[in-house]
Amino acid sequence: MKRNRRKRSIWIDIAFSTAIMSMTAIALLVIFNFSDDSSNASSEVEPAEPEIVVNSADSSFPGIKIVTEMSNDPKAPFAIQYPQSEYEEFNHLVKEYIEEAKEAYLSSAAGKQNNKTPVKELNISFETMQHSTGTYSFVLSKMSSTKEADRQTEIRTFHINPETGEGLTAAEIVGNNAEHLKRVVKVVRDRIFHDPKLKDLLLPDRVQEFTEPLWRNYRQFALTDNELIFYFEADQFTKATAGPPSVVVPLAKVNSYIEEAYRTAEEDQPNDKKVALTFDDGPDPDVTSQILATLEKYDAKATFFMLGSRVEYYPEMAMEVAKAGHELGNHSWNHPALPKLDDEMLIEEIQGTSEMIQQVTGQPATVFRPPYGAVDDRVRSKTNLPVVMWDVDTLDWKHHNPNEILAKVKHTTRPGSIILMHDIHQSTADGLDAILAYLQSEGYSFVTVSELDHY
Ligand code: ZN
Repeated sequence: MKRNRRKRSIWIDIAFSTAIMSMTAIALLVIFNFSDDSSNASSEVEPAEPEIVVNSADSSFPGIKIVTEMSNDPKAPFAIQYPQSEYEEFNHLVKEYIEEAKEAYLSSAAGKQNNKTPVKELNISFETMQHSTGTYSFVLSKMSSTKEADRQTEIRTFHINPETGEGLTAAEIVGNNAEHLKRVVKVVRDRIFHDPKLKDLLLPDRVQEFTEPLWRNYRQFALTDNELIFYFEADQFTKATAGPPSVVVPLAKVNSYIEEAYRTAEEDQPNDKKVALTFDDGPDPDVTSQILATLEKYDAKATFFMLGSRVEYYPEMAMEVAKAGHELGNHSWNHPALPKLDDEMLIEEIQGTSEMIQQVTGQPATVFRPPYGAVDDRVRSKTNLPVVMWDVDTLDWKHHNPNEILAKVKHTTRPGSIILMHDIHQSTADGLDAILAYLQSEGYSFVTVSELDHY
């Protein structure tokens, strides 16, 4: 697998040599000033003016120059580096951002923003990533600190193909297709909830809001041949100490939803021996807890499509499902055939359930399954959640026979299957151990619906 993120060491070399050149320049200027003063004995010795050094050097990326600006003013020191190209439009965008950051910093450092604590340091640096289409992604990190608060970091990204002068947006990568964006967002959310680095820093109930599938939430990104990386603001859905989180989406996971030029040759092995167990109509204080115990025995993760009314009635059970790390799904409030409802009722059924799940478990429902699988465009338009059906119907609600559930599973399960069961029937809890034992012996691993690559 070829990674296009350049080796860090090259970048550090460039940064060091640039820093050395800049410091040499400062030294020369200081010496020059000093000798100038001594040659004119009558002039009073003035306090040395702070020096601002600007220089520009070719980078190891063809067509890109690195501009460095440094100030040794003790009241407002800064070190800024940013990319420039041969294209005015790109240069202007980057410089506009830099100038604004600098102006805000200098006026704050000079105490002109009375209501705020002056910023005492500003540092802007960047990382370059490249895609084989020739497009560079520049990831600028702006770090500033005040006397009271430690480093605050902001990420801004800029894109250019130095051969064509064209920029790039996330919208262009997914072909300006809102449905495709939703699919990518599904992966983004899944990555956020499963990122061990974010585990203790995450504010789960805010993830949904700040990752809504709106173009404006996906402006800050970088693209390599294998990855699409999104940057979010600090304080959006993580604790302040986390800094701005970045979310890496492997392109292989979204190949079907991005434009051909950006697809990876390496197709993600789709659902290779993965299966998603789903349990509908719960939670139930007896049956759900038995099911949780059996899942734990096999280290299996599943998805529970819950009814809002039952979550309200059995909040502890819903909480236990969430705490065990299973995925929470919305299955409406009280199981009506949704297409028959008017808009207002629909919203109550769907939104009301998502709110109840969030309120009770502290975690959002991340998938939606309409009762009876009955859905139309109007129903779909009332939720941002992906609508999830199934391909293995155990009919457990009908026959109440553990052996028949196993027979159905043996007969119809394939890699990537979604198996439908109900955690309100004792017979389902009784049959689950044998089902898991069988699937495990066949080499299947048990994942949540969102962890399947296509559904
Ligand atoms: Zn149901």
